[in-house]
Amino acid sequence: MTRNDGLELSPKKSEYLKYIFEKGGIVRTMDISDNFHLDPSTITKAIQEMSSTGLIDYVPYRGISLTSKGTEHAEFLVRRHRVIELMLSHYGLSGHEACGEALKFEGYISRDVVNKICSSLGHPRVGICGKIMHNKSCCYLGEN
Ligand SMILES: [Zn+2]
Ligand SMILES: [Zn+2]
Repeated sequence: MTRNDGLELSPKKSEYLKYIFEKGGIVRTMDISDNFHLDPSTITKAIQEMSSTGLIDYVPYRGISLTSKGTEHAEFLVRRHRVIELMLSHYGLSGHEACGEALKFEGYISRDVVNKICSSLGHPRVGICGKIMHNKSCCYLGEN
């Protein structure tokens, strides 16, 4: 897998990756299925598919952890969410609304577009549901 446009994972799998990142350490399939109210078999299938992307390490019966590439991708996913919700909040949505609306479509927004929006907002550091971190894959060129 060589694509790096931010759309490597489907919107649903992106949410699973973000969850694994935010929970930290080794995450069990059950943790994910409980969190998303989905059948464990659905998650197991998704995780098996995701393990071919090099973003996660999956040891059956033990759990799932992120690779360094997976951590980087999850950081992008978090930035994507926060940049988009911040943009929406500038157009009259409350923070709560912006957060919920962003979740409905952020999974379709490419890295390039996120970087352009991030840039046009002046590389904000404070988001609505948390800090916005800028890394080397971001358009931000100054000190971090
Ligand atoms: Zn949010
Ligand atoms: Zn930026």
